[in-house]
Amino acid sequence: MLDEIYSYREMCDLENVQTLQRGMNYRITPKYSLILMSRRSNAPYNDKILGDGITVNYEGHDEPRTSFEINPKSLDQPKVTRIGTPTQNGRFINAVEQYRAGKSSPELVKIYEKIMPGVWSFKGYFDLVDYSTKFDGKRNVFVFTLTLSKEQSLDNSVIIDLSHTRLIPTEVKKEVWKRDGGKCVLCGSNKNLHFDHDLPFSKGGTSLTKKNIRLLCAKCNLAKSDKIE
Ligand SMILES: [Zn+2]
Repeated sequence: MLDEIYSYREMCDLENVQTLQRGMNYRITPKYSLILMSRRSNAPYNDKILGDGITVNYEGHDEPRTSFEINPKSLDQPKVTRIGTPTQNGRFINAVEQYRAGKSSPELVKIYEKIMPGVWSFKGYFDLVDYSTKFDGKRNVFVFTLTLSKEQSLDNSVIIDLSHTRLIPTEVKKEVWKRDGGKCVLCGSNKNLHFDHDLPFSKGGTSLTKKNIRLLCAKCNLAKSDKIE
C-alpha cells in the first residue's frame, strides 16, 4: 500500500533480502527493480516531485569511493564500471533505451523513501520512462524520470486513479513523523503505520502540506473507512 511505513528489517523481509546496501537495484527480482530514496543533506531536491504530482526525478549514483583523495562528487556519474560492465546507472539507462525503442514496456520500479534512520516509507510502483544527463555545476549526473504506475500490485489487483493521486513529498512525511512522534495519532500504536490523508485527494484534500496528513495504524484506518462507508 502507498505510504506504508516499515522498519529497515521489515523492508528487507518484504523484499526477501538480508540487506539493502545499494540505492539502485536493477531487477532485484525478475519482475521489478527497486530504488531507495534517501536525501543527502546537502542536496535538497534529490527526489523532486514534478508539477503533475505523480512524477519523480531521481538522480543517478556516483562512482564508488575508492580512495580518500578523489571525491566521487567531483566525478561524472558513471555508466560503466572500470571493467566495462554497466553500473546501476547503466542498467537503468539501458531499460529506458529499450522502452524508447519500443522493444519493451517501461521497467517497473518500486520506490522506498527514508524518513528517519531505520524508518522507511513505500512510495509506490513506478514506470521508468526517461532519463537525461544534467550538468550540476561541477559534473554530469543522470536524472531518471519515473511516473507512478496505475497498477500498484504485481498481479494488477490494485489499480489507482492517477488523476486523483498526488505523491506526498518526503519532506512533508518527515515533518509529520516528527510531529506525531512516530505513533498512531488515534491510539498511540507504533505498529503497521502509514501516512494517512485526513481528507483524501479524491475528495478535495491536498496531500502537499502536513496539515492534512497524519500517522495512522492499520486498525484505526479500518475503523475510519467503516465510518465513511
Ligand atoms: Zn491506531
